[in-house]
Amino acid sequence: MNALRMLPVDMDAGTIVVVVLGIVAVGCLGALLAFAVTRSKVEEARGRADSATADLASREEAAREQRAVQDLILASMQEGVLLLDPELGTAFANAALERHLGSRPASVSQLFPLDLREAVREVAESSAPITVEVERSAPSRWLRVTAAPAGDGSVLVVVTDITDARRIESVRRDFVANASHELKTPAASIQAAAETLRSVVDDDPEAVTRFATQLEREALRLSRIVADLLDLSRLESGSELSERVRLDALVREEAERYEDQAREANVRLTVQAPTPATVRGAARDLSLLARNLIDNAIRYTRPGGVVDIRVEKSRDEVELTVSDSGVGIPVRDLPRVFERFYRVDRARSRETGGTGLGLSIVRHVAENHGGSVSVTSELGAGSTFVVRLPTASTPGAD
Ligand code: ADP
Repeated sequence: MNALRMLPVDMDAGTIVVVVLGIVAVGCLGALLAFAVTRSKVEEARGRADSATADLASREEAAREQRAVQDLILASMQEGVLLLDPELGTAFANAALERHLGSRPASVSQLFPLDLREAVREVAESSAPITVEVERSAPSRWLRVTAAPAGDGSVLVVVTDITDARRIESVRRDFVANASHELKTPAASIQAAAETLRSVVDDDPEAVTRFATQLEREALRLSRIVADLLDLSRLESGSELSERVRLDALVREEAERYEDQAREANVRLTVQAPTPATVRGAARDLSLLARNLIDNAIRYTRPGGVVDIRVEKSRDEVELTVSDSGVGIPVRDLPRVFERFYRVDRARSRETGGTGLGLSIVRHVAENHGGSVSVTSELGAGSTFVVRLPTASTPGAD
């Protein structure tokens, strides 16, 4: 209306119509332009919102994945992990913690053993990390516990089962003590014999021979113990399983070496190894195994007795059996004869030159070769040792 009023008065109607149409057209164009600009802004904003939503979703997905990985790691850890909140209630506990402690504590007041609970309380109060070793009962396990502040009064507890490590440590300690004791005895005898020898050398020539013999015997004993200890320590790090070994031939050879000893002891030695029997392993170690079993069988059999050695092969096993008609082993000692330095009859073992390590060597060799050794015995009637080894796997080997 205002635009019409501003038109010059002398314009004819046609011109007015044209001008009005022009004005309308310009107005529409402006409106269209404004509409287009607004629409593009709206779309731009919607695009930004969509990408923010997608971004948020992908971040949530990444966080979920990260949490799943964390959960997997915590669930498959050997160490028990416990997170206590500032009120010392359980905020998180993994599966290993439940295994180590026997249950999932709901809070610090349910933590056992007591030493563990006290350690956690101490950390909560002092804010300094603590490591303690505690023993839990039924079943008895040793646990190493590290408790550390985790910020805001929370406490993080990590529990490791150290039962096996402690047992190995104690076995080693016992072994060193036993080995030292075993070495000390012949060493002391050698020293005593050498001193006596020096004092009798001038005035008692007969005694010289006696003491020299004693010296020789004890030196031999000492060197046997050292040799067995070296073998054992080598076997503890495994056997080289690189050879194909004909156990039948190896056992026949080893038995031959003992023919003289058997004859002297008046023990009849027989060997039956009729079929080829191949195992994968170390010939040197398998010879040690055979030697120790045959030597024992002869040493623990009285004159007039027999020692029978057999090698048999089944589809996937080779069986070496050494049985004797000797003194036998009491039932209560049977589970322990494979232990290092365990002897049923200390005097007899010593008299016959034993070291107490032979059967331990046998067990190591058998196990290193993926096999086993077992014993049955009847006191006064004899013993039978059976070694089972897997046959060499390559077809056509025999
Ligand atoms: P050692 O050197 O004393 O013979 P081993 O480790 O070879 O040690 O054997 C451990 C113990 O097992 C022996 O001291 C002996 O008491 C017993 N033993 C081993 N073999 C036989 C056997 N064939 N007959 C009876 N007792 C045996």
